[in-house]
Amino acid sequence: RAKTDGRGIFRVYSPEMGNKIRRYHYLLEELRLAIASQNFQLSFQPIVHVEDCSIDYFEALTRWHHPIEGLIPPSEFIPIAEESNLILELGDWILLESCRQMSAWHNAGMKKVKISVNVSGIQLKHRPIYDWVLNALEKSGLPASSLMIEITESTLITASDEIIAQLERCRSAGVTIAIDDFGTGFSSLSTLADLPIDVIKIDKLFISQAKDNPKYYKILNSISELGAQLGLKIVAEGVEQLDQFELVKDMGICCVQGYLVSRPETSRNVGDKVLKGNVNHIATTGTSVWLP
Ligand code: C2E
Ligand code: MG
Ligand code: MG
Ligand code: MG
Repeated sequence: RAKTDGRGIFRVYSPEMGNKIRRYHYLLEELRLAIASQNFQLSFQPIVHVEDCSIDYFEALTRWHHPIEGLIPPSEFIPIAEESNLILELGDWILLESCRQMSAWHNAGMKKVKISVNVSGIQLKHRPIYDWVLNALEKSGLPASSLMIEITESTLITASDEIIAQLERCRSAGVTIAIDDFGTGFSSLSTLADLPIDVIKIDKLFISQAKDNPKYYKILNSISELGAQLGLKIVAEGVEQLDQFELVKDMGICCVQGYLVSRPETSRNVGDKVLKGNVNHIATTGTSVWLP
């Protein structure tokens, strides 16, 4: 993109921009190939109840292990997938694979645990969300009540009436809807009452700042109070330390997700640790109890 530098000189290009553009196009082509060969994995991070640390959901988080570049974080490839609409094909795989995995875990004896899947605004725009979700449930045999979809605050507050209506239909069918990264999207608290949601996931920014910054503490507290009054379930994201766990517990927040409890794990590790060890409960010892 061309820019003036303030002195009327027109700068079209810098070496740094060139590198960024090259990397973008390189990753875009690699992403196409990876999608064609379904070269992605899902990792799973538990969302647990604060009172007994039993697992409520696993959030499915997509991992891309590139043969040369190594692990490429979602913060880098998801935006490229969205800008190119590749997220549509990738997202179809993510939803179906997530539902199939949870259905398999149910059959293997991991009862009551549910799956949570991130859905981007591009998918909401281009997929008929109700049919899309119900199709994945039908194909995988997962009950609607075992699926949550996570939509970021910034996507939800700009969603069209048509999209909101589709989401309402999903809820009527028993699917749970969460507003993700809440607190960062600049909506007012009052919009919470009008959105088709059941769960608020409070962004990790508030959890990391609450202890040292009274403003963040107060915002966190108001979100959790209002959420509770609206009958919404609250999840605190990014809980890394025991004092953060205790702080959100004291606020009456019901569920937490974060490195304190567990990092995202491969499906094999989830199987090994939860199914074989028969651990449906996780102790909060201050260290990740899933890792040796
Ligand atoms: P998100 O949906 O808010 O997911 C939570 C992110 O926070 C994950 O990062 C997770 O690994 C990280 N996290 C969890 N606990 C902690 C903690 O205690 N401390 C810190 N610092 N981080 C923690 P991840 O997997 O890198 O994903 C980043 C974002 O990429 C996700 O944020 C989501 O917006 C997007 N993403 C990931 N997978 C998918 C996907 O399958 N579909 C879509 N549309 N987006 C995805
Ligand atoms: Mg999420
Ligand atoms: Mg989040
Ligand atoms: Mg996030």
